[in-house]
Amino acid sequence: MTSDRTAPARRFYIKTYGCQMNLRDSDSAAALLIEHGWTPADGEADADLVILNTCSVRDQAERKAVGKLGFLGKLKRERPWMIFGIMGCMAQNRGAELLKSIRHLDFVIGTGQIHRIPEVVDEVEENRVKRACLEHGSATDHGIDAHRFDGAESPHSAFVSIMRGCSRYCSYCIVPFVRGPEISRPMDSILAECRMLAEHGVPEIFLLGQNVSAYGLDNTAPPPDDAPSPFACLLRAIAEIDGVRRIRFTSPHPAYFTQALIDAFTQTEKVCKYVHLPLQSGSNRILKLMNRPYDTAKYLSIADRMKERCPEMSFSTDVIVGFPTETEADFQATRELMDRVGFDNAYIFKYSPRSGTRSAQTMPDDVPQEVKEERNQILLADLERRAGDANRKLIGRTFELLVEGPSKRNAARWSGRTDTFKQAVFTPDPENPVESGDFVRVKIVRATPTTLYGKLVADEA
Ligand code: SF4
Repeated sequence: MTSDRTAPARRFYIKTYGCQMNLRDSDSAAALLIEHGWTPADGEADADLVILNTCSVRDQAERKAVGKLGFLGKLKRERPWMIFGIMGCMAQNRGAELLKSIRHLDFVIGTGQIHRIPEVVDEVEENRVKRACLEHGSATDHGIDAHRFDGAESPHSAFVSIMRGCSRYCSYCIVPFVRGPEISRPMDSILAECRMLAEHGVPEIFLLGQNVSAYGLDNTAPPPDDAPSPFACLLRAIAEIDGVRRIRFTSPHPAYFTQALIDAFTQTEKVCKYVHLPLQSGSNRILKLMNRPYDTAKYLSIADRMKERCPEMSFSTDVIVGFPTETEADFQATRELMDRVGFDNAYIFKYSPRSGTRSAQTMPDDVPQEVKEERNQILLADLERRAGDANRKLIGRTFELLVEGPSKRNAARWSGRTDTFKQAVFTPDPENPVESGDFVRVKIVRATPTTLYGKLVADEA
């Protein structure tokens, strides 16, 4: 292959689709490439290496990535030395087929092989061969703990992966097929990573996993409510680290949310009083079809016990509307349960069958699209009303914010998060400039369903 390459430095660009796990994997891949002499580029047009970190959770996410890959073919015609790769769930799921069918695709890296990216890129560059690395990895592979300290990762909060994969096999979900079974990282390795981040001045640790409440219980059935919880031990151990001031996590599974975890959550001050607890449906019949091994009584009992200990506790959730056979009564049960818990936020999805999953193979997608849309809109309206009411009750109260940076809508204002993950904006004091990662206190003067507006309480800052 001829090469017109003139740029002295090898530059890479990673485009990320999907969830926080993918964002973490992209940062980790970038840190490894930088360690191996690569330099970040601002975009694909000035990169020598472009990697798409892909998502398979929805068809649409896959279609976007495939469309982008097609567009990248044009770039390769103009700049033939460029190297293109894909990583993430779609790479794991369809990598071998895509590597064959897309001429300009040079490599595919599965979800467990991120640590091999620099080696694979070197090999493609030197020998101009196509490469696929799709084996499921271990939880200790080098790279899972790699971070960038070049300003690209947030200085106020860092994601830490505590486990890989998922063994729950919810009937609608493709994740267990593409990310493999649950494998927890050793606690020592996670604590070392958290200490390193705290030493770099990162005050908030955000723990990630598909089912974090099953940390340390890999591939086991849901435990009884009085069972010990390795995840609770992990939370308590991270809270001991000097410099860590806030701990968040996503996502726990209700079936693994034991009393020991509720105790650790509510007794450990550094663990933020906000939980994203996926509900999926408020109908026990639908939960069973979804292969979600809990019922609404269990879910409510978790929420009630948390609120009893911490009345300020804030909740968010995931809900699917229009799951096969969902009736109006099932939907109303979801609506009522959401009201009862009082979610501040929810990610509402209209069911669409994902090929390879149990629901796609065995259940008819029989709820009409317009009914799914209508149910989606009803839940969104409920949510907005509820969040508006809850936020207005906070006017006049003072909260500590972890400062994230200038507000996206108005750079004269800055934005931060309360312990309960509510976003609040404030105007900084020019005499005392703030930085991302600082803590400030603000008094709330105005509220919308999504944002609190506050004034700095200068003397307490
Ligand atoms: S718990 Fe269920 S929904 Fe979540 S990743 Fe695992 S299989 Fe998917």
